[in-house]
Amino acid sequence: MKDCIFCKIVNGEIPCYKIYEDDFVLGFLDIANDAYGHTLIIPKKHYDTMMTCDNTTLSRVMEAVKKIGNHYVEDCGFDGWNILNNTGEDAGQSVMHMHIHLVPRKKDDKTIISSCMCGKFVCNSLLKEITISPFENKPDLAQVCNVLKMEEKPKAVLDDGKCHVLYTDGACSGNPGAGGWAAILSFKGKEQVLSGGEKETTNNRMELMAVIKGLENVESGQSVEVHSDSAYVVNAFLQNWLENWQRNNWRTSGKGEVLNKDLWQKLLLETKRLNVHFNKVKGHSDNDFNNRCDALAREEIQKFND
Ligand code: AMP
Ligand code: ZN
Repeated sequence: MKDCIFCKIVNGEIPCYKIYEDDFVLGFLDIANDAYGHTLIIPKKHYDTMMTCDNTTLSRVMEAVKKIGNHYVEDCGFDGWNILNNTGEDAGQSVMHMHIHLVPRKKDDKTIISSCMCGKFVCNSLLKEITISPFENKPDLAQVCNVLKMEEKPKAVLDDGKCHVLYTDGACSGNPGAGGWAAILSFKGKEQVLSGGEKETTNNRMELMAVIKGLENVESGQSVEVHSDSAYVVNAFLQNWLENWQRNNWRTSGKGEVLNKDLWQKLLLETKRLNVHFNKVKGHSDNDFNNRCDALAREEIQKFND
């Protein structure tokens, strides 16, 4: 959403004190700085309130709440936590991008949060009241963030520093129907996550798009190992279908027109500019990167149903 402050944080247009991030959820310190460690947990996708948030997203947010809360207790010396959600302006919601407040608690910290649930108080105003005494000198949020932030899980080392590694997936709801694609590109330990969707497309087109978009982000002359679960995409290269199609003026052996010629041509351009090698992975199994691409591609489809 264009004018949403939390969407701007998700897109990196406004900075935040990041505590936690995964593909779908972001956790960061509340700038109110009204209780030590006051954290906001939001879905990356915009929903005004919890009322309209889809259940898959809601459970992802709650899983993150539990991870962050557990981290505060297990690794940061807290003893428990409170969570709070304001749904709707009349319930005290001031930022219309659904979020959960999480306040880590210590034994005897004298923080009382429960009464803000009564709906008369906005969480912030109450938190301010009750935290004035413990925090006459408010802590520096950057320092709080350094203490509390969750270590990013060490990324699986995919590349050898010479070759880019690209995982891709496409998905479609109905064929044709609304579709999504996703690509995770890794190089020198850095990861780029790309995704997009189309209202009316096919599964094969989305599989192709995922690879094209991923490759478009690699500088010319570089080597890329592509991992896709699409036999259609991978076999076109490994079994020389593409060479045959081109030789036959984009006709199949049955003399029919080759489908998706526009995308195959785009993909060919990319493979000419780079040194690309294709690998077939088993879909929907235990490959984390393939599974993440699958979830991201499905999320793109979901956007058309919202
Ligand atoms: P609510 O009243 O439940 O909508 O809570 C919104 C919260 O967002 C408030 O506690 C604000 O302090 C917090 N907030 C607003 N802008 C930012 C921002 N740029 N970074 C972090 N927290 C923010
Ligand atoms: Zn938003």
